[in-house]
Amino acid sequence: MTRDPCDKCEEILQDYLDRTLTNEEWAEAESHLEGCDYCRRRYRFEETLRRYVKTSAAERMPPGLMDKLQELRGLDATA
Ligand SMILES: [Zn+2]
Repeated sequence: MTRDPCDKCEEILQDYLDRTLTNEEWAEAESHLEGCDYCRRRYRFEETLRRYVKTSAAERMPPGLMDKLQELRGLDATA
């Protein structure tokens, strides 16, 4: 029985968005997304959702906290 590539795609979706895939998985996902509208839409949706969650969370942050976070992020920005 052949595995549905879309199942695999769904499985690695979160890691893909977290950028924690291995190069091999990454390449696999990319090449699948190129030929699969369904998964491309799903990935785009998840990405938008994440951005939205991040944005609305940032809006609820007390003033000054965002600056502090950005400062912390700046520390390893060169990594
Ligand atoms: Zn697919």
